[in-house]
Amino acid sequence: GLKAGIVGLPNVGKSTLFNAITQAGAESANYPFCTIDPNVGVVEVPDPRLDKLTEMVVPNRTVPTAFEFIDIAGIVKGASKGEGLGNKFLAHIREVDAIVQVVRCFQDENITHVSGKVDPISDIETINLELILADVESVEKRIERSRKNLKGGDKKYAQEVEVLERIKEALYNDQPARSVELTDDEKQLVRELHLLTMKPILYAANVSESEAANADDNPYVKLVREYAATEGAEVVPISAKVESEIAELEGEDKAMFLEELGLEESGLNRLIRAAYKLLGLYTYFTAGVQEVRAWTIRQGMKAPQAAGVIHTDFERGFIRAEVVAYDDLVAAGSMNAAKEKGQLRLEGKEYVVQDGDVMHFRFNV
Ligand code: GDP
Repeated sequence: GLKAGIVGLPNVGKSTLFNAITQAGAESANYPFCTIDPNVGVVEVPDPRLDKLTEMVVPNRTVPTAFEFIDIAGIVKGASKGEGLGNKFLAHIREVDAIVQVVRCFQDENITHVSGKVDPISDIETINLELILADVESVEKRIERSRKNLKGGDKKYAQEVEVLERIKEALYNDQPARSVELTDDEKQLVRELHLLTMKPILYAANVSESEAANADDNPYVKLVREYAATEGAEVVPISAKVESEIAELEGEDKAMFLEELGLEESGLNRLIRAAYKLLGLYTYFTAGVQEVRAWTIRQGMKAPQAAGVIHTDFERGFIRAEVVAYDDLVAAGSMNAAKEKGQLRLEGKEYVVQDGDVMHFRFNV
């Protein structure tokens, strides 16, 4: 499964947010691929298309798709030099596919700030610098090794050295590796380094309860937005405290509480969708009378691989897929109507699955 890691300095609200995530958490029986671990929270991805398909098909059950948030505690200034949990912390970040950095934008005199005052940009820079320093070390090591190989006469290392030098240059200028423009080939070359600053990042700006509905009036949130814009990153304003209260409620109570707060939906839902997008994920659907279900794939996956997300047998024995685009299906009103209109396509092994495809797989066992 794909994972987003939650990071941030101490006392910014990470645990509060993570608790909200696990409270709201998914029934893990539906998601056998998910890790059972106190630091892992499984979240279901809210998707109005799934509700619409449920209305249309009236299945026995509906299952949203899910992914994992990992709580990565313990980053402090000096982590890359082994301070705090140091290297252990960085190793955990290496394993995630995207980073959600929680940034403190709430004022509260009773909650100590590690550096003495609320200053989200300085906090972001502190963390990003640790990630950059860790990457400098990885890149320098690799350059040294590649240079040796190059001396041995192996020309393919010339390109590797050239790419790594460009990344090193960016890191030396306090820029993340993801800011360096790379071709697909070049990306492939550096992939196995698992650089921390290559991972996509979003900032969760944690505001106080009273600001939950109008988070953008908070001047710190504005600063975070400006900072994020310079690196093309997303910002999700959220009140971790409020989310932890919302997560304890259900149904009618939850709807009423949201209304009282002046919120259209929980911040958690917005965060989940933003993280899903950040991870570069697509959703396809299966829609049978037994079950209507959303499945997660990476952009660019072909039909057999997408089938493999359901079961490895589906991938191995893949023959064909019957596909209708979600919009076509909804416009037609039913699977049969879509078929009559010629919108149900038969696709083979090379078909690249699109976001919103409604699929039925044919396979050999
Ligand atoms: P972590 O160290 O980043 O995991 O931070 P915690 O989630 O443990 O939060 C640190 C303290 O800040 C706790 O006492 C929280 O209750 C408090 N806190 C978190 N979010 C908010 C908030 O939005 N407003 C206020 N007033 N306190 C908050």
